[in-house]
Amino acid sequence: MASSIPDEVMMNAALIKELADVAKDEALLQGVLMRTKETPNSSELVTYAPFTLFPSPVPKPVFHQALAVQTHFNTMVDKISQDTDFLQEALTSTIEVDDFTARLFKIHQQILKEGKSQSIVLGLNRSDYMLDQKDEKTSSLKQIEINTIAASFGGLSSRTPDVHRHILKVCGRLEESRQILANNPAAGLARALAKAWELYASERAVVLFLVEEVQRNIFDHRYIESELWKRNIPSVRKRFDEVYEKGSLDPDKRLFVDGKEVAVVYFRDGYMPQNYINEQCWDVRLMMERSRAVKCPDISTHLAGTKKVQQVLTRPGVLERFFPERPEVVQQIRATFAGLYTLDVGPEGDNTVAMALAEPDRFVLKPQREGGGNNIYGSEIVRVLGAVKESTERTAYILMDKINPAPVQNYLLRRDAPLVISNCLSELGVFGAYVRQGEHMVMNECVGHLLRTKSSEHEDGGVAAGVAVLDNPLLV
Ligand code: ADP
Ligand code: MG
Ligand code: MG
Repeated sequence: MASSIPDEVMMNAALIKELADVAKDEALLQGVLMRTKETPNSSELVTYAPFTLFPSPVPKPVFHQALAVQTHFNTMVDKISQDTDFLQEALTSTIEVDDFTARLFKIHQQILKEGKSQSIVLGLNRSDYMLDQKDEKTSSLKQIEINTIAASFGGLSSRTPDVHRHILKVCGRLEESRQILANNPAAGLARALAKAWELYASERAVVLFLVEEVQRNIFDHRYIESELWKRNIPSVRKRFDEVYEKGSLDPDKRLFVDGKEVAVVYFRDGYMPQNYINEQCWDVRLMMERSRAVKCPDISTHLAGTKKVQQVLTRPGVLERFFPERPEVVQQIRATFAGLYTLDVGPEGDNTVAMALAEPDRFVLKPQREGGGNNIYGSEIVRVLGAVKESTERTAYILMDKINPAPVQNYLLRRDAPLVISNCLSELGVFGAYVRQGEHMVMNECVGHLLRTKSSEHEDGGVAAGVAVLDNPLLV
């Protein structure tokens, strides 16, 4: 099995233990940090964010393919967000049965009715991929999803390269250590935030990070906040309830929170139903959306990131709608699409049901949710889909081909887990950042990457869900 663990280390338990201790200290030194489960809202006790002891091999061509297509995904998301008819058509069946998407959609419709009060658009997204490696020789890059709201780990992944460089040096692998790629998504994300703030053109206005109740991953945000402060751009952190208490719109729809004008709202919350603990949260989302502040993302860009939209995009002719004069772009984007299938009521959806029930292990059943741990696999597909197959409820889901990367051996370093070798699967994320003002794209960039690795015994779940850990690609 592939791995980048040096042979002399592989069989030496004492050495592994020693290296793990060195790695944890280096992670703390480099600021790869997280608050603890026990005290998630205090920095009195912090620990290392979970990570792999060694980087994981990633084939060079697919890595570059993922970077190269990112600006096109930025453009695509931005175009979708402006195509009212497309969003309406794509999401009609979903919003009939999925309350969360329906509520987001209702805000979207209200904004359309009132007219947008801000022409500056800021998109910070992360397109995630796995490698389809069903047979030994081929590695095909397949998009798992694109996150258009609260895409995380741009901060911490800016600090992990030095940890793996250090570990490889300690193992005497100087050459490999040099091959660990530079990566600084935090700087790129902050650059886009700063650009939007500048265009808003009000020196005392702040960037508001809308944050969750539980803030274990605060350091990931802090890197971006720091980058803003370095530019003398003030940032504040507020929860929904705080904005409800202290926020308001003035007659020009300028958003004020705690007496400060808000230039940009950066959502690191609000991406899943549990984030809206009461009606007041929805009131706040609507108020922000109506405001003149730049929203990252705005409501239509949030909707553009739904799994239903992802499925509709794979239908013939749909990408062409967004890139009518660019067949080469269409081809580049489409090459990353896995098979995605509708569960809408009708013969096509019936066909999807039959296919999934016949071979459930070939697929993943996905609801319109974010944050990891929501997808359905294997025999559960038979149970869940079996129960809803005759009703419109099935349209809350989409079906996707399951991607099968070749497992790689590594050690996952996590505070509450024993130090054992694991068969691991990795997911590559690519960060995109863009700023548009009216018709004019002011910035459109690929700003870095993220490798997350999990034990192959887990089908689902990200770093925040406690399953995956941070990693770095070692290009092979
Ligand atoms: P979320 O928005 O909750 O992160 P994802 O679509 O990214 O939803 O799915 C969560 C996790 O499930 C992924 O990180 C990946 O580990 C696994 N997964 C999702 N889709 C697939 C797929 N098509 N094949 C294999 N694993 C998948
Ligand atoms: Mg997601
Ligand atoms: Mg995901």
